[in-house]
Amino acid sequence: MSVEYEPVIGLEVHAQLLTRSKIFCGCSTVFGEEPNTLTCPVCTGQPGSLPVVNRKAVEFAIKLGLATHCRIAPYSLFARKNYFYPDLPKGYQISMYEHPLAEDGFIEISVDGKKKPIKIIRIHMEEDAGKLKHGETPETASFSYVDFNRTGVPLVEIVSGPDIRSPMEAGDYLRKLRAILQYLEISTGNMEEGSFRCDANVSVRAKGQNEFGTRTELKNMNSFRHVEKALEYEIRRQITILQDGEEVVQETRLWDVDQAITVSMRGKEEAHDYRYFPDPDLVPLRIDESWVEEIRRDLPELPEDKKDRFVNKYKIPEYDAEILTSTKALANYYEECVRLFPEAKTVSNWMMGDLLRELKRDEREIDQCPVTPQHLAEMLAMIKEGTISGKIAKDVFEEMYQTGERPGKIVRDKGWTQILDTREIEKAIEKAVQGNPKLVEDYRQGKERLFGFFVGEVMKETKGKANPKLVNELLKEKLKAKGKV
Ligand SMILES: [Zn+2]
Repeated sequence: MSVEYEPVIGLEVHAQLLTRSKIFCGCSTVFGEEPNTLTCPVCTGQPGSLPVVNRKAVEFAIKLGLATHCRIAPYSLFARKNYFYPDLPKGYQISMYEHPLAEDGFIEISVDGKKKPIKIIRIHMEEDAGKLKHGETPETASFSYVDFNRTGVPLVEIVSGPDIRSPMEAGDYLRKLRAILQYLEISTGNMEEGSFRCDANVSVRAKGQNEFGTRTELKNMNSFRHVEKALEYEIRRQITILQDGEEVVQETRLWDVDQAITVSMRGKEEAHDYRYFPDPDLVPLRIDESWVEEIRRDLPELPEDKKDRFVNKYKIPEYDAEILTSTKALANYYEECVRLFPEAKTVSNWMMGDLLRELKRDEREIDQCPVTPQHLAEMLAMIKEGTISGKIAKDVFEEMYQTGERPGKIVRDKGWTQILDTREIEKAIEKAVQGNPKLVEDYRQGKERLFGFFVGEVMKETKGKANPKLVNELLKEKLKAKGKV
């Protein structure tokens, strides 16, 4: 009898906070500057220097705690996490351990159309480490370089509960979390620049079993797709081990993008390996209830609320609302378009179809879209008024996307206006009928499928611009009429 297995996944996300200065000093957090130009005695750990916590960073972390339904701790404490690595000038990282800033919240994802809360165990603040760069040319191959610009950049670490049951759920959770960070405008959520990093704890167990299996920790996944792929691979690997009657080893494994496998990196690490202790240079963080309330009052509308509002206000399906609120910019685009052309479902259809398809193909975000909400609304109005057909509109949209031009100008320049003038259509029908007397006779004898042929002739004559509905009506009338052609 074969056992059915289920994966148990928990995620740890590090997100960079969008403050202008670092977490414990005044150095700039700008990305991409010359190495080691954004440093000072504090972030390079010189003896005698003292860290001072950045109030803005704390405010941002509280925002995230509130947005994920966490309890904000009135008292939290920075601790030293000791380990030696060349990118860590102090020999320890300032983080939070026993007393994190926020605890016990959740983020909702949708699974099979139902809402599923994923527990947030804790959110804590910490400083980032520097960046190692290994020599890439033959001359420098034996060297490693270190850049301390990133050292001391403020991070929040968000630790989920082991509530995730598939790689797809993991992807949904990450997208939701990133959307929340972006809605709050406290992080770019950019994975390529390392502003949003994810490690995953994964184990498998027989379905119905309560205890967790032995887990491994996955690292080095720098896109949502890689997270999903790495999890899929690791789940398969662990199931195979169990099926062979072997045991999974608790360890840290790296995702190897090129080979699409996970490889062992190091054995298990326990918290005591880091010898955490309270940082004596920093006073405990005492957070006033009133400050928390002030921040709560100023929270913007968050993805989940916006989605519910879209469903209620615009009467669009939940599926549409989920996608349209996936980023704030996309949601704004939608609302602006609906304001100008108040047919909510039509707008949604065009955005979810043509618009997002083009953007995805070009790997562009909505704020890089050459078609403005004004232009899209104008085009939809032209369809509604019958100036262009729905079919021609597809070409108009493509042209708008390529050139950034207004639809009115495109239609005029290309001569794509739909023919609604019945006299003009009748003229084309007359020509089609006159030119094919034999076929008209056949049609009248009962060969009804010839109708399509005549429609085709009329369309050819009008270069595809005749209103199809009018062509159908007028052509039927004409062919029905008795008498000589
Ligand atoms: Zn500094």
